[in-house]
Amino acid sequence: MKILVIGSGGREHALVWKLAQSPQITRLWCAPGNAGIAEEHLASNQAPVECVNIGAEDLGQLLGFAQEQRLDLIVVGPDNPLGMGIVDLFQQHGLRIWGPNRRAAQFEASKVFTQEFLDRHGIPTARAGTFSDPATASRFAAELGGRCAVKADGLALGKGVIVCKDMAQADHAIEDILARRIFGSAGDKIVIQEYLEGMEISLHALCDGQTARLFPASQDHKRAGDNDQGPNTGGMGAYSPVPFLREAELVRVGNQILEPWLRGCRAEGIDFRGILYPGIMLTRQGPKVLEFNARLGDPETQVYLTRLENDLVDVLAASVDGTLDRIELRWRPEPAVCVVMASGGYPGAYAKGKPIAGVAEANQLPDTKVFHAGTTYHGRQMVTNGGRVLGVTAWGADLAAAQSAAYRAVAKIQFDGAFFRRDIAAKALR
Ligand code: AMP
Repeated sequence: MKILVIGSGGREHALVWKLAQSPQITRLWCAPGNAGIAEEHLASNQAPVECVNIGAEDLGQLLGFAQEQRLDLIVVGPDNPLGMGIVDLFQQHGLRIWGPNRRAAQFEASKVFTQEFLDRHGIPTARAGTFSDPATASRFAAELGGRCAVKADGLALGKGVIVCKDMAQADHAIEDILARRIFGSAGDKIVIQEYLEGMEISLHALCDGQTARLFPASQDHKRAGDNDQGPNTGGMGAYSPVPFLREAELVRVGNQILEPWLRGCRAEGIDFRGILYPGIMLTRQGPKVLEFNARLGDPETQVYLTRLENDLVDVLAASVDGTLDRIELRWRPEPAVCVVMASGGYPGAYAKGKPIAGVAEANQLPDTKVFHAGTTYHGRQMVTNGGRVLGVTAWGADLAAAQSAAYRAVAKIQFDGAFFRRDIAAKALR
């Protein structure tokens, strides 16, 4: 089989690494890829994975490439091309592509769409309203005592959510988005949710339009600093499984959310094939949906794919073809931990082009895989090329062992300005 993965981050490196182990693949490309992806080889024939210099949002060029190479499967990593309708476009040209179509990707692209869907189908979520008028929005925020999350409707580079503690903050957030338009047209409308307290977890479910297969739970670490301090980021680390959510509870949480969601999709003719990734708050009143994403999480993917035992080609093909009911996902019991190493200044401004040392040494440690995100080569020197640079991932007999292994690998790697959280998975070990 000939497969193309679209994207360039740590999630895509993990997808490529796992796909490369499949005996079914004879050629594997990644557009645009990164320095680590370019170093992978196929298990079937030792051929190198090939990076193609086409951006993830350049749908026209990607389509041309897919047709020219007569690809058997295209795997989409990031949310932007999904929101742009890459799946619909490729399907119109008879190509087999994994990911939700544009209508299904609305669950991520529009918070208003998702909130209204949740409410319509009785899926547990925060008390919420959707607004385009600041005065009406402010009255609703006042009903919540100002303790709320104000969310821009559209995609805003992961920055579109402002969590507020009082009315002054809530009014400021409402004005910023609806009047001062800090997120542009992504803020034509907003969702305001009551503030929920509890432990936050990520769920992932692979879907084929009819069946949803729940992954083990994982936990992301969104804030830049230790103890969840500092600004929100794309994610500074993850681990799986989550020990405070037992298997039976996970299934219950999944049923309370996934079953009504699938029924709602069927009733409304939404054909969701791909990953539904709900952000969940485990509140005293039970699990509640904060948001839906419509793609794999980054860095959750790095810990999931180091634990998945199935051939990933079979799994993705079943999701595309509607045959997931015939597949059981099998997970290695060993927990996995991913620690993200980022460029100094991230998620704000940061420098690029800093030489990176020690990745090969880290990769030689047992039970360790360094996934690349923002990396490239200047000549033969590997250098930084983004905010999140590496996802150092390790597994072990238990979570503590996986965590130590990940940090042992992190200690081998250096680049100017590198920073990382020192408490990934600490909540689970407390
Ligand atoms: P979202 O992108 O909607 O998941 O929001 C980003 C982050 O804001 C989440 O990961 C939560 O930490 C926080 N958040 C979102 N909604 C709420 C809420 N209703 N109550 C408390 N925190 C929230």
